[in-house]
Amino acid sequence: MSLSLSLPQRYKRTLQAMTLAVAIIYMTLVLYQNAYGYPNIQTIQLPLEVAQQEDIQPVVVASQQQDGHQQQHIQQHQPTTVIIRKDVLSFNFSDIERPDSSSISDTGRNLLLRGLSQRSVTATPKPPITELDDIFISVKTTKNYHDTRLALIIKTWFQLARDQTWFFTDVDDKYYQEKTKGHLINTNCSMGHFRKALCCKMSAELDVFLESGKKWFCHFDDDNYVNVPRLVRLLDDYSPTVDWYLGKPSISSPLEIHLDNKNSSVPTNKKITFWFATGGAGFCLSRALTLKMLPIAGGGKFINIGDRIRFPDDVTMGFIIEHLLKVPLTVVDNFHSHLEPMEFIRPETFHDQVSFSYARMKNEWNVVKIDGFDMKTDPKRFYSLHCHLFPYFSFCPR
Ligand code: UDP
Ligand code: MN
Repeated sequence: MSLSLSLPQRYKRTLQAMTLAVAIIYMTLVLYQNAYGYPNIQTIQLPLEVAQQEDIQPVVVASQQQDGHQQQHIQQHQPTTVIIRKDVLSFNFSDIERPDSSSISDTGRNLLLRGLSQRSVTATPKPPITELDDIFISVKTTKNYHDTRLALIIKTWFQLARDQTWFFTDVDDKYYQEKTKGHLINTNCSMGHFRKALCCKMSAELDVFLESGKKWFCHFDDDNYVNVPRLVRLLDDYSPTVDWYLGKPSISSPLEIHLDNKNSSVPTNKKITFWFATGGAGFCLSRALTLKMLPIAGGGKFINIGDRIRFPDDVTMGFIIEHLLKVPLTVVDNFHSHLEPMEFIRPETFHDQVSFSYARMKNEWNVVKIDGFDMKTDPKRFYSLHCHLFPYFSFCPR
């Protein structure tokens, strides 16, 4: 058989060869993109609701009332920076301010922190993914709670995560700025326990975290005790490159809200349900998840979404993550808010809990049931809890 081809046949062969070459180049590109992705390009699809946010109006709230957060709109006057210290003497910080590391407290602290950061060189089969320094811990507070709640945190668990914890408040406060070594952030949000102010702070917390480059964002209220080593161990079980929304709901069924789209040509009323982690127990978000939130809720846009659905910060967070981004809440029972009875947390499990809280209910305290300091010295039980978990602290009884 002759190898010489006629002209049409030659064209046909050339065409076939070119098609094959194009197919090979295309396959290579697809494989490369799958493996490495496109640099600097956000590929997430914004859910429909975000594109139509202008039209969203909530009309009915079903399900249980959540979180006790009030939703009234109050016009705030400008925050004043004049701060009157009420009980500054009762918060003597001298015992934790020794610059040298000679005290038992500091030695213990250093041992613990070294333990947390050195797991990478131990012979564990699984390399650690998350260490204390990978976590951004944000605490929401307000001017009126600096002398009480903030001071209590600074004296206890803050000492175990001084470089990782940031306080988001609504005034400049030189005194606590110094106590926290510059970790007090004045958000310039309004003071007050109302939706707009709370969403404003949460928005600031999220934005500062995004800037920080850390792997995990963990939010807490200023009436939370955070068991720092346990928090690190918790996050070590999850990957920050996967979408994680870790926390605990305060209601037994998902929140149901009705979104009313009056402005559309065909007015609609849509019922949606979603879970949210109650802010008062604390919750954590992986960096992967916050990067997906960035285009819709970053750079202050969290406040806009709160404004549109008119729910508090923690509900807004659940709405964005569960409803808009379709990332489900992973329930972690070790987070605790004062919406649950603290006395039911068994002492033998204290080490295993991530967060605790307290609240004064009428004349009674909802607090952790723990031996230690008397009720007058330690009504919120956080000093006793802290000494139970970390007995080497200098104010703990020997
Ligand atoms: N908070 C605030 N501004 C206020 C009152 C409260 O930022 O005017 C913060 C407070 O610091 C705490 C959270 O909101 O971190 C919840 O406040 P609180 O414990 O008083 O109320 P709860 O919602 O738990 O009943
Ligand atoms: Mn509270």
